[in-house]
Amino acid sequence: MATIINGKEVAAKIRAELKKEVEELIKNGIYPKLAVIMVGNDSASAVYVRNKSKACNEIGIEFEEFLMEENTTREQLLELIDKLNNRKDINGILLQSPIPKHLDIREAFNAINYKKDVDGFHPINVGKLAIGEDCFISCTPAGVIKMLEEYNIPIEGKHAVVIGRSNIVGKPLSQCLLNKNATVTICHSRTKNLEEITKQADILVAAIGKPKFVTENMVKQNAVVIDVGINRTEDGKLVGDVDYEKVEPKATYITPVPGGVGPMTIAMLMTNVVKAAKNLK
Ligand code: NAD
Repeated sequence: MATIINGKEVAAKIRAELKKEVEELIKNGIYPKLAVIMVGNDSASAVYVRNKSKACNEIGIEFEEFLMEENTTREQLLELIDKLNNRKDINGILLQSPIPKHLDIREAFNAINYKKDVDGFHPINVGKLAIGEDCFISCTPAGVIKMLEEYNIPIEGKHAVVIGRSNIVGKPLSQCLLNKNATVTICHSRTKNLEEITKQADILVAAIGKPKFVTENMVKQNAVVIDVGINRTEDGKLVGDVDYEKVEPKATYITPVPGGVGPMTIAMLMTNVVKAAKNLK
């Protein structure tokens, strides 16, 4: 039987620690503040933004939301980012994705001051991660590493196989694992003989976006299995990228969905905002 990695519990612990840290910062006249920009009215994004605002409230981080119309122009968006870059009271800027198709999200991410880039998407932060310098790390990968560390799961020397190569999860997570001295293999949609590779993993990460994609035949006995996927089934249930019931008996550690990686993402965002506030003081 695998040990279930309780992301909800780890995330709650991180938030409690941050709350204390923020109290201290406030005593010293530093008021961490996150600005969130949302363009258009995507209903899923609205839920994510609300959750971020709730987490900020709980910890004592100030929160300001900037809602822009669906027909916002490129110039209007860049102008707002520029304004927030220059506002001394704002430490972190987050542009909620997706944004309407007529806007270039990469251009917008690149316009955010990398010192306020609490999502870790700016090329300077991505580059610093690649060369192992202190930087803002994308929140979901940072959350995965934090979970492994909290459960004292060794990374060094292990073969980590990451399925997925997106810029927000697969690639930065692979880089984080490499920085922690794992031997990393990145698999993706064009990978041949996927099962042969995943079966070699001491640490197997699924970041694919396909419900129950990872089955027991793809997993080595006693592997650590991290499920980043969040998928909704037809009957409205949340499931991961891993077929949990089948894979769990083979694993030593496994993350559930929900309650695994998901809660860690916001906790790491909060960590990044506090880090930004300390850096900018
Ligand atoms: P994405 O669609 O950008 O990337 C998916 C990756 O999976 C791609 O790199 C692709 O090459 C790979 N892939 C697709 N089909 C494959 C196949 N048959 N075999 C091997 N690889 C395949 O997705 P993403 O943004 O990286 O997100 C991945 C999953 O993680 C989604 O379910 C998403 O909802 C979830 N997610 C969760 C969190 C969280 O907080 N827990 C955060 C971000 C994303």
